[in-house]
Amino acid sequence: MSTLYIVATPIGNLQDVSLRALEVLKSVDLVAAEDTRVAQKLLTAHGISSRMISYHQHNADEKDPQLLELLQQGQSIAYVSDAGTPLLSDPGHSLVRICYQHDIPVTAIPGASAAMAAFSINPFNASRFSFEGFLPPKSAARCERLRQLQGETRAIILYESKHRLLELVSDMITVLGEEREIMLARELSKLHEQVFYASLAELEVALNDDRITLKGEFVLILKGDDGSCHQDERQRQADILFQQLKTCMSQRDAVDLAQTLFKLPRNTLKMMAAKHYQVS
Ligand code: SAM
Repeated sequence: MSTLYIVATPIGNLQDVSLRALEVLKSVDLVAAEDTRVAQKLLTAHGISSRMISYHQHNADEKDPQLLELLQQGQSIAYVSDAGTPLLSDPGHSLVRICYQHDIPVTAIPGASAAMAAFSINPFNASRFSFEGFLPPKSAARCERLRQLQGETRAIILYESKHRLLELVSDMITVLGEEREIMLARELSKLHEQVFYASLAELEVALNDDRITLKGEFVLILKGDDGSCHQDERQRQADILFQQLKTCMSQRDAVDLAQTLFKLPRNTLKMMAAKHYQVS
């Protein structure tokens, strides 16, 4: 029976796959895989020898009509991404959409996802979340998105690569402040699995002193805004403080005081104070 199966696969541990997923992968006419070498490891580990083709974001335009034709001929196809649940920061959207447009049944075969695995162990007592996946790679756009998320009260789930993790944490400190709580989950379900729960400032220190190795894959869960003062508001208040103190307290003491009161990054406060003290 012609069906497109969207099959979740493990995010590291090859045993994290459902019996139903294995059954489907075994019985379909074709497995479309984001990376056939990655999928082959899973299939081989479970003794499955189904026919495979590659389907990824760079060949989707070409493959969509071909796969649609096979489905319309009555074949069944399973799509698997490299890891976890397809379409979750992964390709597959256009294929799913095309199937809806042509009345081809689409069936989800649920299973692992890094986002859900991390959320299932979040320390925030959070029952609601917003899934953001990857934020923009460039700092200006990333900060803009973080500003839009500043007042989000739900927990925020983020993916990030090891190459940009430090930059992301630094931008989060700039926009959200050092105190915001965060959970980092590294290499979930794998040998070097690590979970770290702290403030953004503590996370930055732990990344810099190698308590958290910058290797492997990372999910971050940011605590939602709990109403404590936003970074923007605290900066506004620090600005007023410098304005008031510039004639009666040294710049250094004023920065110390502002840091104690507003818990803002020292460099940010120094730059703000300098503006007031230069003109006085
Ligand atoms: N579709 C996948 C899912 O359901 O989780 C996500 C695919 S996305 C291209 C890959 C990102 O997921 C990685 O950069 C990382 O942020 C996260 N990720 C995947 N596997 C992970 C793991 N075992 N531990 C932590 N994060 C993981």
